[in-house]
Amino acid sequence: MSEELFKNVISHAKEYGFVFPSSEIYDGLAAVYDYGQNGVELKNNIREYWWKSMVQLHDNIVGLDASIFMAPKVWKASGHVDGFSDPMIDNKDSKKRYRADVLIEDYQEKYRVKNLKEINKAKKRFGDDFDEAQFIATNPNIKRNNQKIEDIDARLKEGLESGELQKVKELIDELGIACPVSGSKNWTEVRQFNLMYSTQMSATDGESQIYLRPETAQGIFVNYLNVQKTGRMKLPFGIAQTGKAFRNEIVARQFIMRMKEFEQMEMQFFVQPGTEMKWYEYWKEHRLKWHKNLGTNPEKYRYHDHVKLAHYANAAVDIEYDFPFGFKEVEGIHSRTDFDLQQHEEFSGKKQRYFDNETNENIIPYVVETSIGLDRMFLVLMSNSLQEEDLGEGKTRTVLKLPAALAPFQCAILPVVKKDGLPELAHEIFKDLKLDFNCYYEEKDSIGKRYRRQDAIGTPICITVDHESLEDSEVTIRFRDSMEQRRVKIEELSSIISKEVSMKALLKGLV
Ligand code: ATP
Repeated sequence: MSEELFKNVISHAKEYGFVFPSSEIYDGLAAVYDYGQNGVELKNNIREYWWKSMVQLHDNIVGLDASIFMAPKVWKASGHVDGFSDPMIDNKDSKKRYRADVLIEDYQEKYRVKNLKEINKAKKRFGDDFDEAQFIATNPNIKRNNQKIEDIDARLKEGLESGELQKVKELIDELGIACPVSGSKNWTEVRQFNLMYSTQMSATDGESQIYLRPETAQGIFVNYLNVQKTGRMKLPFGIAQTGKAFRNEIVARQFIMRMKEFEQMEMQFFVQPGTEMKWYEYWKEHRLKWHKNLGTNPEKYRYHDHVKLAHYANAAVDIEYDFPFGFKEVEGIHSRTDFDLQQHEEFSGKKQRYFDNETNENIIPYVVETSIGLDRMFLVLMSNSLQEEDLGEGKTRTVLKLPAALAPFQCAILPVVKKDGLPELAHEIFKDLKLDFNCYYEEKDSIGKRYRRQDAIGTPICITVDHESLEDSEVTIRFRDSMEQRRVKIEELSSIISKEVSMKALLKGLV
């Protein structure tokens, strides 16, 4: 079922102008995608929701737009040149390459699924008396499964952190993990692959190798004092940025989930050393609230603590979403300590210190980061919203129940027929509403067909102009989710749509 849903999401995204494979007429480019006419609107709206919630709603967070190219030393300092790699393993029979840690995590997931089934069974059996926490703590099957998960975690962590990758290979062998494609257990050794793309930059004194940024965060670190000084910022304060990042993902599958060129939305929050855990907890909670505020089923989200901490972090958690192919990371919250700023101070030879007026001290702040993939968020919304609804009498409809404020179009204006002055009136309405909303205008095909097309791209409100409208200045509005239809005055349209679809209404859920 889930696999089917995922296939439907991919084909729906293509058929309705959301996502196309890149350079498709040349047979595409692996793991690179283009956003179509509806996709770009949805993507812009997700970005806007993120930006406004981070920058506009916080008086101590400001924005930044740093370049993709940076001085190569940045990546030496940040640890990416030496350490930004994934442990990969190849299956000799299928010739497919996998991330070794992901193969192991997928194996563990089977035990989590078993536990969940056990819990659900018990829930049904005990009804209202069910004490879930006690059940988890005492049920022998669940305890055994959790112990297995923990043991595997510990061994994976040991192998990855010590760099002794043969231990990871041994674990894969012992667990009997088979290639999902060939079903064989004929594996190569585990090896590290660097994920950064490099290119050449010409200058008068020759060419130098530079990198395409693999994360937007470093642009924030190297500008933090510029922003702090010119913006007279005081700790704690944050800098937010959205933009493209590039990673040579070797195992790139699952549509826009893992791409070679993708967009990040990151915020670095600079804090007094020693207060970072408080802020880490704050952002962990706040970011989950941002997700749930979209009306997504709350059970589809969970936290996942990192087993292997990145070289810069002292605490890290993922916010995971239950995609059609299982729980996977959408966003990371990382306590990055003062690692990056210390490194930049050392490598640039420039002090990266903040002068604290109150204590008269120069300090290097600690940083808590929130980092979300815009494309993954796009996939969350597409998979959560795409529904095949049974309308009875053998009829169904395909509807994309996107959060109204994020839908590509907020309303569609549809004259019932293409004559008798109806298009003229409809255009007048369009002219008025387009200043506030992204409106769709369409006069081709029957009204039923047009409604279905708007359902399929997620338009929350359709406005139908008919012959009576010419007499009484009223139109029919139809709501996407309930399919309820109502007659309203043309002059009321703007305020009705505002109430239903405004970004303001969405943001209110966060304050
Ligand atoms: P993963 O473990 O899935 O590779 P990551 O831990 O490397 O992700 P981060 O470096 O924490 O990811 O990046 C922050 C966010 O950027 C991720 O939560 C994800 O939403 C997004 N992201 C990372 N890599 C990709 C990619 N290749 N394609 C699309 N989005 C990505």
